[in-house]
Amino acid sequence: MELKDLKPKPEDSNIIGKVVFPSDLIQEKITELGEQITRDYEGKDLLVISILRGGVIFLIDLIRQIKLPLSIDFMGISTYGISDTSGGVVRITKDLEDSIEGRNVLVTEDIIDTGLTISYLYRNLKARYPKSIEICTLLNRDIRRMTDIDIKYSGFKIGEKYIVGYGLDYKQRYRNLDSIYELKLHEVKKEIEAVKNSSE
Ligand code: 5GP
Repeated sequence: MELKDLKPKPEDSNIIGKVVFPSDLIQEKITELGEQITRDYEGKDLLVISILRGGVIFLIDLIRQIKLPLSIDFMGISTYGISDTSGGVVRITKDLEDSIEGRNVLVTEDIIDTGLTISYLYRNLKARYPKSIEICTLLNRDIRRMTDIDIKYSGFKIGEKYIVGYGLDYKQRYRNLDSIYELKLHEVKKEIEAVKNSSE
């Protein structure tokens, strides 16, 4: 079975909606981002950082489109909040393996929504004296932004819809879908209500 055949299973069709970004469009965009980054970091020492867990799939495809010597490192974070997304309280669950002092750091994210997670990480990493630090995100939901951040490399703009696939999860599932899909949030809410009612 090829990766492109990894479609949501029929039993998921009540919560997985339409394709928002098909895999070939995602790969095209990543090629463009890789070319841009290759031009900008020519002759520089580049360290690409990925945020666990959702950002890993994007990192893996992106670094293969950056035609330069580079290294990678990972940071694990956990967020707590009131909304469907992070809400703003960030805790580091896994720190980087190596020092970033004097290095050109590129932080990659799957999606930047309110921006609270990335701005926390940006401040945290900035305090470790990198030579430079830039942000690259595949998806940018700028309509919900709550903080001022400078995103140098941005793939697609996305509206309000909650999405899954290509690293993005709902209850830790669907990260392995090769395209990005809309989650039928109203159906999910109904499901949650049904579970609540049955346990009362
Ligand atoms: P922020 O701090 O920018 O509000 O949140 C960013 C994080 O929220 C992302 O790394 C991702 O984990 C989560 N997130 C935001 N929007 C979505 C979405 O539409 N779908 C999924 N699955 N996660 C999202």
